[in-house]
Amino acid sequence: MEQKFQELKKRFSEVSAINSAAAVLHWDQQVYMPPGGAEARAAASAALEELSHVKFTSDANGALIAGLYDWAQGLGEDSFEASYLRAARRDYDIAKKLPADFVGEFSKTTSLAMEAWAKARAASDFSAFAPHLQKIVDLNLRKAQILGYKDSPYDALLDLYEPGATKAAVGPVLRKLAEGLKPLISEINGRKAKISNGILKGDFDEERQLALVNELTAALGYDFKRGRQDRSVHPFTTGFSINDVRITTRTQRDYLPAAVYGSIHECGHALYSQGSPQEFEFTPLADGASLGVHESQSRFWENIVGRSRPFCRWLLPLLMKHFPGKFDGVTADQLYAAVNRSEPSFIRVEADEVNYNLHILLRYEIETAMLEGALKVEDAPAFWNAKMQDYFGITPAKASDGILQDVHWSLGMIGYFPTYTLGNLISAQIARKLDADLPGWADLPAHGEFAPILSWLRKHIHSQGRKYLPGRLLQRAVGEELRVEPFLDYIKDKYSKLYGF
Ligand code: MG
Repeated sequence: MEQKFQELKKRFSEVSAINSAAAVLHWDQQVYMPPGGAEARAAASAALEELSHVKFTSDANGALIAGLYDWAQGLGEDSFEASYLRAARRDYDIAKKLPADFVGEFSKTTSLAMEAWAKARAASDFSAFAPHLQKIVDLNLRKAQILGYKDSPYDALLDLYEPGATKAAVGPVLRKLAEGLKPLISEINGRKAKISNGILKGDFDEERQLALVNELTAALGYDFKRGRQDRSVHPFTTGFSINDVRITTRTQRDYLPAAVYGSIHECGHALYSQGSPQEFEFTPLADGASLGVHESQSRFWENIVGRSRPFCRWLLPLLMKHFPGKFDGVTADQLYAAVNRSEPSFIRVEADEVNYNLHILLRYEIETAMLEGALKVEDAPAFWNAKMQDYFGITPAKASDGILQDVHWSLGMIGYFPTYTLGNLISAQIARKLDADLPGWADLPAHGEFAPILSWLRKHIHSQGRKYLPGRLLQRAVGEELRVEPFLDYIKDKYSKLYGF
């Protein structure tokens, strides 16, 4: 059996190597590739993905998995072998259902759609992207039908990003959260005294911004010997290996938080990926339990740490060092207030912690409606704008500030957005557990002390890689299942003090 397990590992590591090469192509496409490269890149990516798919779904692999599964579980459910086989069987079963020509078509369609999205967004022209979005909705529906589902095709897609999640479970969570947030939003919007974020606006040299966020992420624990940071339209994290985890950021010359908090966010993802044990390299156990758990790491660092008062005390001198003169006379308390200013806004990635999850609810409502045929793609912008008016009282004047702002749909990802909110909820549950396990942890960032916090995350979450399904990992790490209340308590406490109500 041990010999057969080694054979399976060898076969899967070859597939991981191909996937690693495909990830380099995707990274390059978003960071360096000139527009003229789009057609050729689409073909190259599709070829690699088909090759990976064919190799991965071989009957020989299926026989090895079937033959090894019970043996591995017998070694104890926490063992490397048992976890490996659970993850391998899940991936194999999903991939086996998807025909190679479908995978190739999906890859080619999304590669072209991403290029079209970037152009459409720059021109703020939804009609240029609409045919691509229609194809992506149709392909996702076909994908759901191939994978199978009980209640909604959305369940099959959601499960790809958040194993075990369903529309019936996630929808009520998003709505319950929104109901808890709405009174808070109207309380904040009703305040006469607004918080200013003027100190974060101005003329910030973009190379200096990069130097700042490189120093910042290194301080948090991001290992630049096993990663690098570049710029892209939409910040993201990708891994070619446990030992090569890359992040990107988005610099905005006139507004500093885009780069600072974009970087901290992606750094949170990268810390999780870099924290996988070396023995997980090129196995199905590398990286995280789910996108929701991944997002809990990015949001924990971005918001719970990065937008805390102690963190701002440490951040202010760093800002002064990289932008001499720009922060003279500014206090840490002013910085804290500025980075937490809450107001209804158009752009999800710039939304504050109070409003953010309503942006997710809106996307969830649109994508479920498009997928289930209740909303036509051509009517999606009007639906979007009506929801923006309903939730935030504002309507975007152009599609680039509305329905064209996110890259996800162009990449073929429907069912992904809810994982952002799941991540926010889990991040608050982690903070509450840290209160018990590491008293005083929240003040450590004031002195640039991030290592004890990272150690806790490494021990309880990162080191587990993808050994457990998200629900099980959460139970093991924080001792409870997914809950809305810790996040609502955290946000109410923080914002009632900030806005004085
Ligand atoms: Mg993220």
